[in-house]
Amino acid sequence: MNHKGILVVVSGFSGSGKGTLMNRLMEKYDNYALSVSATTRSPRAGECDGREYFFKTQEEFKEMIQEDAFIEYARYVDNYYGTPKKYVQEQLDSGRDVILEIEMQGALKVKEKMPETLLIFVTPPSVQELKRRLQGRGTESGEIIDARMAQAKEEVKFMEFYDHVLVNETNQEESCVDEMHQVIQCAHTKTSQNREFIEHIREQLKEV
Ligand code: 5GP
Repeated sequence: MNHKGILVVVSGFSGSGKGTLMNRLMEKYDNYALSVSATTRSPRAGECDGREYFFKTQEEFKEMIQEDAFIEYARYVDNYYGTPKKYVQEQLDSGRDVILEIEMQGALKVKEKMPETLLIFVTPPSVQELKRRLQGRGTESGEIIDARMAQAKEEVKFMEFYDHVLVNETNQEESCVDEMHQVIQCAHTKTSQNREFIEHIREQLKEV
């Protein structure tokens, strides 16, 4: 069977809780590698360079664009975010499933470049709950929260381009994590993911 990893993009409204879901997925299951993006936004309290993001200046980020170091990059609420190419390719080749936690413009660019990518969208159960979670985070100003709600209004237009929608119910994270794991594991059995194996069977049957 196929031993190459699956590229998975997880998007969701800012405040959907996907960051926490991703951390739990990594803790609970073995075969995932989480890609660390580069960004020009400032670190939030508790964030570390190289763990949540590689924090870059505008100039450094532009240099990386020129060096063709990104699979994709996008501007989101006044900052740039990009997925470094090298790490993702190495992990996929070694058979690990790689998760990109990126917003929609980036997700659609990845799908265009790499059509086998699995796109998963995470959403809270309601808009009311989304706002509550953003306010509860306590690290963002009112202005930023408004900007993120406005962004969500734009993003909802693209939800249907995703392969799966997962609802992250309040206090039900564990079941959302398990659901995500199942969806990804299922993708390993897709025929498009197993072309070499199919060819191998075909060749063997010629001998019969
Ligand atoms: P935050 O500032 O809340 O950490 O992230 C803002 C948005 O940028 C989130 O939707 C997050 O998924 C997205 N994002 C993070 N890294 C990347 C990336 O490498 N590329 C793109 N296109 N979006 C990213």
